[in-house]
Amino acid sequence: NELKRMATKLSESDAIRIQDQNLVVALRIRPISEEEICVGATPIAHCVDKNMVVLMDPLEDPDDILRANRSREKQYVFDLGFDGNATQEEVYVSTCRLLIPNVIKGFNASVFAYGATGAGKTHTMLGTDREPGIMARALNDLFLEMDRTKEDMSYKVTMSYLEIYNEMIRDLLNPGSGFLELREDAKGVQVAGLSEVSARSTREVMDMLMKGNKERTQEPTAANKTSSRSHAVLQVTVRQRDRVRDILQEVRVGKLFLIDLAGSERAANTQNTGKRMIEGAHINRSLLALGNVINTLSDKNSSRYVNYRDSKLTRLLKDSLGGNCKTVMIAHISPASVHFEESRNTLAYADRAKHIKTKVKKTVMEVSHHIAQYNNIITELREEVERL
Ligand code: ADP
Ligand code: MG
Repeated sequence: NELKRMATKLSESDAIRIQDQNLVVALRIRPISEEEICVGATPIAHCVDKNMVVLMDPLEDPDDILRANRSREKQYVFDLGFDGNATQEEVYVSTCRLLIPNVIKGFNASVFAYGATGAGKTHTMLGTDREPGIMARALNDLFLEMDRTKEDMSYKVTMSYLEIYNEMIRDLLNPGSGFLELREDAKGVQVAGLSEVSARSTREVMDMLMKGNKERTQEPTAANKTSSRSHAVLQVTVRQRDRVRDILQEVRVGKLFLIDLAGSERAANTQNTGKRMIEGAHINRSLLALGNVINTLSDKNSSRYVNYRDSKLTRLLKDSLGGNCKTVMIAHISPASVHFEESRNTLAYADRAKHIKTKVKKTVMEVSHHIAQYNNIITELREEVERL
């Protein structure tokens, strides 16, 4: 428990370190899985520092002089890095918790989970009953905050859960309602006919999300048993009314978008044809559009025109990216050597979303060999502390 408390404290200090940034890019490496170990995969991705990630190219042929001459290690710097030991609580506290007061004040914010199928996106966003993810934790904090201030303010928190599949919008809380249209009016971007429910407890939220997730378009591809071919978007709206002044007047409206993106593996990788190929093209297009928008926002001096119209996803988020809105991108990778290509693509995408200049001059060479050792030592120490 002491260890847990310390970890949460550290996450809080991380959150404070980045709280003034409008764009935060984090990387989460999940633990290596049984299946990966069974096929002889080894860990090739490590967090070296609080925010540096190293990916090692697993050489197929160590005698290949051309390849061996190249550095096998590539390092990436992000705002935050999480490895397999990071808990759901730590990830939530350092990336998302500080967004809550902003949303209550009426600012919009969005959090994206990016990565290939199986890299851990749904674990981070939805999680499980025992280890709830960002979605339930954020709503829980909103409920607590509302309770705390209910004397002078009246809040209403509602949620909608939708998917964007092949550039079409479906209501995951009311799947029978067919495809929904995006409208832009004086109040901003709206999905016409989307159901909005008010939830009271974290339990209720989790149940609704789990049920909604079963409605997501998930179909088998050659590479994966079930890969999510759609973006799942949880839209939380906080409407505030001033109790003291005027009960009917809406004072502020803040929106929080929590998004479990479609698997980023490229269509080319999954030997897709026909329907699967069209899905792949749509996914690539929207992920590319999102990357472009975020990249433009990260460069304050850029005079480039931000093209939201390139995809449904960026159109939906038009009022929630840029300006005073906070954006958090959590990219996900597997640490296993069998997923090297996917991990490299994800790291490149996240790196491009916000290129953070490396302050460390010295090249980190072959560092992951040592890191693997340290990781073992840390795990042992943790276990020891837990036993105490
Ligand atoms: P994605 O949504 O990116 O396809 P999932 O979130 O479904 O991937 O994760 C794939 C598998 O790995 C699931 O069985 C999940 O429980 C597990 N997993 C993912 N991230 C973690 C983590 N940080 N700790 C433990 N298990 C994880
Ligand atoms: Mg998923």
